Amino acid sequence: MATVTLDTLRKEFDSGQIVAVDDVSLDVGDGEFVTVVGPSGCGKSTTLRMIAGLEQPTSGHIYIGEEDVTGVHARKRDVAMVFQNYALYPHKTVQQNMGFGLRMSTDLSKERRHERVRETAEMMGIEDLLDQKPGELSGGQKQRVALGRAIVREPDVFLFDEPLSNLDAKLRTTMRTEIQRLQEEIGTTAIYVTHDQEEAMTMGDRIVILKDGQLQQTGAPTEVYRNPANAFVGGFVGSPSMNFVETGVEATRSSATFADESGRFDYTTTDERLTGAVSGRDAVTLGIRPEDVYVADAPGEDTVETTVEVVEPVGADNYLHLDVADDFIARVDSDIEPDVGDRVHVTFDASDVHVFDATSGESLT
Ligand code: ATP
Repeated sequence: MATVTLDTLRKEFDSGQIVAVDDVSLDVGDGEFVTVVGPSGCGKSTTLRMIAGLEQPTSGHIYIGEEDVTGVHARKRDVAMVFQNYALYPHKTVQQNMGFGLRMSTDLSKERRHERVRETAEMMGIEDLLDQKPGELSGGQKQRVALGRAIVREPDVFLFDEPLSNLDAKLRTTMRTEIQRLQEEIGTTAIYVTHDQEEAMTMGDRIVILKDGQLQQTGAPTEVYRNPANAFVGGFVGSPSMNFVETGVEATRSSATFADESGRFDYTTTDERLTGAVSGRDAVTLGIRPEDVYVADAPGEDTVETTVEVVEPVGADNYLHLDVADDFIARVDSDIEPDVGDRVHVTFDASDVHVFDATSGESLT
């Protein structure tokens, strides 16, 4: 087991035209499960490939434990990577696929290697597949073999690059739990890249959010959900996405009124957290999560009157698309079923409202 430290890690392509990873620093604790998430092209895979030794950084350092492995060849790093496309040898059996890395990286006897492969296969529930070839296996079975091949080597660090992307939704959920269980059982440090924020939130002890090669925020999933560092993180984490409203601000000592140009949003609060956050500003971006919006019984200063544009039933909840701002959604219980075109009053607890700088998007709350 080992810690992983990234120290101002940078990767440029095309003579610096593309900055794929922009001075990222990160400490991953011994035995920690860290998920790395962000939109396509944000530098997730490149970061992981540099940790694996498959890509050489332009500058910065990578440490595994105390050792600076920045210039160390991939094969000499004690990491095992699991890929989206499984990367199994088609002509080798499952037994041979799982044993191959062991043969290359250890000097165990053939008998001992076989024993280790069998033990791992049992742990993964694939002991009946040992004599089969990848072409005879389902996607889920192949991914189990790929996982087994990583586990059998007992590496210091597991690296996962979107390992579940090729599986159907149901199997993906099962495998998520399984990977978590295995990692917990084995206790190996793990770094798991995904573009799926839900996967990142449910699997990680800690989540790392990247955008344009830059680290936006890192923290426990609930911490990042509750206290996003900026509007990008607020919008990226959580589903449906956080609602944003760009508003002007008129603040007195004890109250603040937020009103947008279109006249659709008008909200007054005396909440100290919000009045404090906007002091000295005349415009901000408010962020309100769909699950924090309620339909009020009666109008008041802290309610917003609006029109229901779409009612989208999703089982236990209804998503009400409201004319409060562009793409503004309230996630309400399914027994709240207004008709399209109805006028409703909606509200939210001031403590659930996030305030972001109108230009930089940095959180002010
Ligand atoms: P995805 O989720 O789509 O896989 P990602 O977050 O993993 O995206 P990377 O694959 O790390 O992103 O790519 C980051 C940036 O670096 C992108 O702009 C990509 O086009 C660029 N890039 C990656 N590899 C190379 C390469 N070998 N040559 C040139 N540009 C590259």
